[in-house]
Amino acid sequence: IRSGNSQAQYMDTHHLMTKAGWRVHILAPMKPLLESMPALMLLSASIYLLLALGLLFSSERRRNLQRMQLAQSLLEQRVEERTQDLQQANDRLKDTQDELIQAAKLTVIGSLSASINHELNQPLAALRSYAQNTQTFLARNMPDKASDNLKIIIELTDRLADIVGQFKSFTRKSQGTDSATDLKGCIKQALTIVQPEIDKQGVELDVLLPEGQYQVWGDKVRLQQVFVNIMSNAIVAMQQSSKRTLSIRVNCADKFCISIQDSGPGVRESQMEKIFEPYFTTSERTGLGLGLSISQRIIESMQGQINVANAEDGGAIFHIILPIYLAEERQSS
Ligand code: ADP
Repeated sequence: IRSGNSQAQYMDTHHLMTKAGWRVHILAPMKPLLESMPALMLLSASIYLLLALGLLFSSERRRNLQRMQLAQSLLEQRVEERTQDLQQANDRLKDTQDELIQAAKLTVIGSLSASINHELNQPLAALRSYAQNTQTFLARNMPDKASDNLKIIIELTDRLADIVGQFKSFTRKSQGTDSATDLKGCIKQALTIVQPEIDKQGVELDVLLPEGQYQVWGDKVRLQQVFVNIMSNAIVAMQQSSKRTLSIRVNCADKFCISIQDSGPGVRESQMEKIFEPYFTTSERTGLGLGLSISQRIIESMQGQINVANAEDGGAIFHIILPIYLAEERQSS
């Protein structure tokens, strides 16, 4: 539509009114629409841009997520590999430690072997002479006497089997499996192992074990090994002493305290700390210097402590502190 020089554009929308026979036209001016066009275009361009940015962002995010998942699974794989390596190293270390504990135990037994030999030879010699006597009694037709002798022979073989059994169970390689362990039983068994040496050196034993159940949590053979180490060290330390007494006491307060005291020269003040170090030894012949360091490890693995002092009346006194084992505590923990 033209008016003068200017020309206006209208949008024509029409509707047919059949009853009236009219066609109604509505002319809407295009000017306002055309004026708002750039703003509309800008708006749609912005929306488009926003949409494009959103898409880009979400695809980047997805890619990042994938990268992160990949990195995470790689990390998990690495951690798993590393854990396996560490587990293997740990197993190897434990095996080596077990071997070392076993080697130290056999060294102590080795140093006691002469007296153990003696302990076994005594009943063996007795067996022989009782067997010879039995032969003679039988030849002289004295079956009653022969039967008495046979009874003694049986007792002697039982004693030999007992001694061999003690050493067999002590020298067997322990797997380090913990269980409720009878503390006093362990001390008594350790005493059986060192008994031949105690007899040989003429050591006086002064053992006072209180009545009642004394239980600790740990490996029985390893705990015995600790007592055998300390007792055999004490016997060696007393070799040059005129008075040789080995005293063993067990006290119980909130923990067990086992004291093992000898009447030897004691430990030099400068060596108090060193004696628990691996390979520290003053024994030139048999010592590996591992006994006390391994004993300390065993006691610490049982949540206990071991220390040494010089007793007022001379000699070294070792204290071993161990937690009391209460069955209910372990069940509930
Ligand atoms: P080893 O018995 O092979 O020497 P240990 O680790 O058992 O190794 O002992 C280390 C050192 O501690 C001994 O060589 C000794 O010098 C000292 N020692 C241990 N027990 C006593 C003791 N009862 N009296 C004096 N010294 C001791």
